[in-house]
Amino acid sequence: MPADKAHAVVIRAVPFGETSAVVTVFTRECGKLRALAKGAWRPKSAFDGALDLLSVCQVIVLRRSTDGLDLLIEAFLERRFRVATSLAAVHGGMYVAELLDALTADADPQPELFDAADTALLCLSGHEGPDALVWPAVVRFELAALRAAGQAPALGRCAECRAAVPATGRVAFGMLDGGVLCAACRSGRRAVVSVSAAALAVLRGLRTGSVERPIETPVLGELRAVMNTYVAHVLGRKSRLSPRLVPALPSRSLPTRDA
Ligand SMILES: [Zn+2]
Repeated sequence: MPADKAHAVVIRAVPFGETSAVVTVFTRECGKLRALAKGAWRPKSAFDGALDLLSVCQVIVLRRSTDGLDLLIEAFLERRFRVATSLAAVHGGMYVAELLDALTADADPQPELFDAADTALLCLSGHEGPDALVWPAVVRFELAALRAAGQAPALGRCAECRAAVPATGRVAFGMLDGGVLCAACRSGRRAVVSVSAAALAVLRGLRTGSVERPIETPVLGELRAVMNTYVAHVLGRKSRLSPRLVPALPSRSLPTRDA
């Protein structure tokens, strides 16, 4: 059986027997792996904290050639995810894990996606500043994960006819069409919301990495409502974290349904 050494982020761990765990890791070299970690939760385990949720670690995995679980031989902690004062940052980290699990297939390496997750977790871990600084990291990762899954929302050109869509006034966003729609394509479509030019501009900026500043609250509320709905369409279910990823806002700031 071949043994692989890989750079990993822990995205799930469930108990197995008295002291062992089945751990799901997303690795840079081998993609998502599910592996048995024998004795992981013994008091003096050799894994020693490396398998906590969202830890970044180096792992050595014995790969099974058949459908059975892989075997996690060793894990060396590189960086623990630190919970500080921002609950939004913790929920953001858990959302990173959920999307890595839901939007990737087993053993399909996507090094760019691993790097995007690593960057997001580095930013969210130990965050003590205002929550407004958390959201650019969360949304940037969300867009990277959707892109890696071939589900990136069209933000600059019409999802249907590819015509350029200017970010002025309010822009139609088709959930089933996969992004913005031009005036000619929007009529008669189902599941269309209208998005403000400000929210669309922030999404475009985060996609290209040009937005670093905090996202203003009214724009954030609208942006989260659009992205939570879009991700739910992609996953075929609501994200478990979606209720935690919408800031408390007056209802008028949520996107209006487009007739
Ligand atoms: Zn069009």
